Amino acid sequence: MSNVIVLGAQWGDEGKGKIVDLFSDRFDIVARYQGGHNAGHTVFIGSTKYVLKLIPSGILRPGVKAVIGNGVVIDPAALIQEMQTLRGAGVEIGGNLLISDRAHVIFPFHRLIEKMSEARENRIPIGTTSRGIGPCYEDKIGRRGIRMADLLDRESFRLLFDTLAEDKQILAETFQLEEPVDYARIRDQYEQYADCIRPMVADTARFLNEAIRGGQRILFEGAQGTMLDIDHGTYPFVTSSSAAAGGACTGTGVAPTKIDGIVGVSKAYITRVGSGPFPSESLDEAGETIRARGNEFGAVTGRPRRCGWFDVPLLRYTATVNGFDSLIITKLDVLDELEEIPVCVAYRVDGVETSEMPATFRAMQAIEPVFENRPGWRTSTKGISRYGGLPPAARDYIQYLESRTGVEVGCVSTGPERTETMIRSGSRLEALLGLAQEGH
Ligand code: GDP
Repeated sequence: MSNVIVLGAQWGDEGKGKIVDLFSDRFDIVARYQGGHNAGHTVFIGSTKYVLKLIPSGILRPGVKAVIGNGVVIDPAALIQEMQTLRGAGVEIGGNLLISDRAHVIFPFHRLIEKMSEARENRIPIGTTSRGIGPCYEDKIGRRGIRMADLLDRESFRLLFDTLAEDKQILAETFQLEEPVDYARIRDQYEQYADCIRPMVADTARFLNEAIRGGQRILFEGAQGTMLDIDHGTYPFVTSSSAAAGGACTGTGVAPTKIDGIVGVSKAYITRVGSGPFPSESLDEAGETIRARGNEFGAVTGRPRRCGWFDVPLLRYTATVNGFDSLIITKLDVLDELEEIPVCVAYRVDGVETSEMPATFRAMQAIEPVFENRPGWRTSTKGISRYGGLPPAARDYIQYLESRTGVEVGCVSTGPERTETMIRSGSRLEALLGLAQEGH
């Protein structure tokens, strides 16, 4: 029985949505452990496109339960809207969705605080999505936040809300925020949301642990990539939660001893949304080509993504902090037309070559990438679903990434659809998914 964490090995948008959706039929439960409704996943099933923001993509598989863990922050309005959109698209949502009673609640004033703090002079603009996620985590760590269980508790919610609202009013006055906020209306509205969400809220840590004891398998789904992790990412250009593998345990209440495998998802190149250091960024025509071919625009925000080349030191770093057993390379087909494919193999910082990830923002900004060019294959790989069916130069590229990063590539994706994927036989990934013994 395997419980597996699948998470992004870069800055997010690696195609985890597709991968988790694809693997989810091997699992009984898909659980999300961090982030909020800023983490868009796009999943194509046939020609139907589903954009998931907060709800784990396992919801798209009949029979699979989706769990929103305690490490996630929830905007009830966004959650209800997402449920309605999915139901409108024919997805059943009922007893198959559970929400942690310990997850923190986002309020409209969190969004205001975020805008305010981003706009202040001398603040490094992080380029957040201004959905109130960061300030909600601030309240959580500041021990004044409101959790799902509190929202549902009519006895205590009003008092907790009024205390938090008072804090925000003082802040708003201090920072001369002009935007009017009707706190009483928000409180009433949230009581209505509570009634709508109530049937799904549960002690999900208990639920997950009982499920494990009962022999069920859990897939833990990371939302943002490792380089956006609050501790291990390119701080301060990071998200406010633990996106790395360790976050799966704290964010769900499942112990590390219950995790059997950790799988990283990486593009065959790399992208980043918003500001922050990006050593292997391609600012020329090649970057434009990748953006166009890879449709590199945010699933939730529509923002164009910055594009660049596969970064070996970065991947080795994320492989170390996550302990990857296997790597999935997505979007190989996006590189199909290139004659040569640069790969960043080392960094040069202040004239010194290194393969380590620097800690400071200044040093990260100062990185000069050292590139090695690999030959392209200049033929379509779109939809190829057998490793042996890939052109030899594409296989060489995969093997090159494997040897450089020191992690097996257990799966390659060549298109957005479920079928456009290959899992390599004999890989650790195949064993983790329980495919090996079935003679897949
Ligand atoms: P996520 O948040 O990591 O799931 O990533 P996004 O959903 O933001 O972005 C991934 C995008 O790439 C989606 O539109 C997917 O449908 C698409 N995609 C995933 N795998 C592949 C692939 O192998 N090839 C191509 N061309 N597109 C892919």
